[in-house]
Amino acid sequence: MIEPGSSWVFPRAEFPSLLAGLERAGYRVVGPTVRDGAIVYGTIRSVGDLPEGWTDRQEAGTYRLAKRDDGALFGYNVGPHSWKKYLFPPREQLFTLRRDGSASFEVTPPPDDEPPLAFLGIRACEIAAMRIQDRVFVGGGTPDAGYARRARSRLVVAVQCGQAGGTCFCVSMGTGPAVRAGYDLSLTELIEPGRHDFLVQVGTPEGAGVLADVPMRPATPADLSAGEARVARAAQSMGRTMDTTGVHEVLLRNLESPVWEDVGRRCLACTNCTLACPTCFCHSTEEVPDLSAERVERWRRWDSCFNLSFSELHNGSVRATVPARYRQWLTHKLATWFDQFGSSGCVGCGRCVTWCPVGIDLTAEVRAIRAADARAVPPEGGPAP
Ligand code: SF4
Ligand code: SF4
Repeated sequence: MIEPGSSWVFPRAEFPSLLAGLERAGYRVVGPTVRDGAIVYGTIRSVGDLPEGWTDRQEAGTYRLAKRDDGALFGYNVGPHSWKKYLFPPREQLFTLRRDGSASFEVTPPPDDEPPLAFLGIRACEIAAMRIQDRVFVGGGTPDAGYARRARSRLVVAVQCGQAGGTCFCVSMGTGPAVRAGYDLSLTELIEPGRHDFLVQVGTPEGAGVLADVPMRPATPADLSAGEARVARAAQSMGRTMDTTGVHEVLLRNLESPVWEDVGRRCLACTNCTLACPTCFCHSTEEVPDLSAERVERWRRWDSCFNLSFSELHNGSVRATVPARYRQWLTHKLATWFDQFGSSGCVGCGRCVTWCPVGIDLTAEVRAIRAADARAVPPEGGPAP
């Protein structure tokens, strides 16, 4: 009986049966695919769309695809896209206003004709990021209608990481690499000499439903151990670490640190880090009228706290300098996000490090602030500097 909590194994050759099950259940499957020299998220129609035999090499400011010789379907680390592009699209119409002949307006929401989405290949840190955005968009008193609709109907087919990238630090942030919650199905790709299988753990009845026609056998203790060993290897190979002890206090008592000036001199304020980040949610809205002035559309589009105009008030920008904008971003991510939403705003995915054109690394900046803080704050009972 396929039910939540059960674990199964199916061979790599049966992966098309899983895709067929998702399609039969009415989902549009989105997942990893190779495009423009990177592994990005797009529509998956067949196994041929997946990045079979590809991996990536990542460092601060560097991303390269590389071949691997084991034919893995999910043997890569997270790329420049995050799943937020589906739940919180880069540009979205919020509503249309039409003058109804009098002084009032008719408000029409955009059409709701998208099929539900199945997110195939979502990693543990990405589930954590999605839950953070869920809190932002639907956790308050006024839920965002479009986000809520898409979130309600999504199916999460997670994949546990078998390796870590050069800029990953999910272990430090407590968000991965093991997938523990928030999934409908969780896959672990088991590749050993003479074997290429998928271990599948069922999280919900919806997940169980799409497995009905996949030829599988119950997982054995040896299968489960093999899955745990893969995830443990990923945990041990993180490219980065971040000491999060007391980071909220350390950052907020160092708002005047010279480190902000130093990083601000290197930062281009290009906004890449915020666009790649799976939790950043800053956006702007704009009205687009037609020429008759009878009809106007309101659109929302991604924006960034690195843009000068983002904090524009009546007399200019609140954060006029790049150091002030970097400080706003980092202190929000790692400190004031706790005050606002009760969690860190960083899940340790490493995207902002990899995709920063000048290789600014938030783990290094936090270390620099800690070092400056240690010089300024003597240990209790110790001599003043
Ligand atoms: S701040 Fe950087 S490492 Fe943290 S979640 Fe955002 S992109 Fe990932
Ligand atoms: S930290 Fe890097 S990615 Fe972010 S705005 Fe500055 S230069 Fe761009």
